[in-house]
Amino acid sequence: MGKLLIVGTVAFDAIETPFGKTDRILGGAATFIGLAASQFDVDSAIVSVVGDDMPKAYLDVLSNKGIDLSGLEIVKGGKTFFWKGKYHNDLNSRDTLVTELNTLADFNPIVPGNFKDADVVMLGNLHPNIQMSVIDQMAERPKLIVLDTMNFWMDHTLEELTAVIKRIDVLTINDEEARQLTNEYSLVRAAAEIQKMGPKYVVIKKGEHGALLFHKEHVFFAPALPLEEVFDPTGAGDTFAGGFAGYLTATDNISFNNMKRAVIHGSNLASFCVERFGTERIQHLNNGEVGKRLHQFKALTQFDIEIQ
Ligand code: AMP
Repeated sequence: MGKLLIVGTVAFDAIETPFGKTDRILGGAATFIGLAASQFDVDSAIVSVVGDDMPKAYLDVLSNKGIDLSGLEIVKGGKTFFWKGKYHNDLNSRDTLVTELNTLADFNPIVPGNFKDADVVMLGNLHPNIQMSVIDQMAERPKLIVLDTMNFWMDHTLEELTAVIKRIDVLTINDEEARQLTNEYSLVRAAAEIQKMGPKYVVIKKGEHGALLFHKEHVFFAPALPLEEVFDPTGAGDTFAGGFAGYLTATDNISFNNMKRAVIHGSNLASFCVERFGTERIQHLNNGEVGKRLHQFKALTQFDIEIQ
């Protein structure tokens, strides 16, 4: 079975959408990535940190999916990373109201010995120095390193982020962040600029408008499934990344054609994530509903056309 090492926040999230509010529920980039990747036949582990204010029941959500938590440090007396966000009416944009790094501020990640040979490393959103330290601890170069980040780290740690981006294979990033990183408005130009920075593949996530995969002169587009109800978009980007990395790990194939399938799997899982608050929906997925939606994806994007 392929091994997937996941790095990212395990967090408390407080979320406000036009449809309701939650206070301090389970969230974090690594949480969503791990839950999405657990849909595939992979051996996965999370490297992260929490305080002892994190309820065991929340951590059980992850370990019950078979995710190895031996690299998850629990700091005695420490406080878990906390994020609070508020969505605008269109749900495509949000304001971050609070980011408290807490135990993340001086976290020294330790990759468990049995994951130093992971096939794929998914560097989820967190401090780029932590992402870098994890790459440095690998016994050999993984087959694929995927990195996800956000504007917070571009604003505060751009130099460190640029250094780690140099060492990865795939960058997943949303449209506004791609523009911020490259100063290019066109996403085609932004993707070309990012490829000059290191990664050979770039995935630009456009929320309800789908995702674009770029590699040299090749471009692939996956729509987002048009949904009747979007409740809370939190974690959709991480769920996408977890599905993408999980599928590539399980299939042990990192060709561009297989990455296209990985983008579809990631988009498919993200479509579930947004239907409930936080992790509620992707915690309780069954294979039947996931497969059914993949058929919808296929039908949505297939057409016959005669070209002279
Ligand atoms: P997404 O909606 O995919 O962008 O991810 C939302 C998740 O990212 C939430 O569960 C937050 O806990 C987490 N998050 C928010 N800000 C940060 C940050 N600066 N670094 C790492 N994770 C974050």
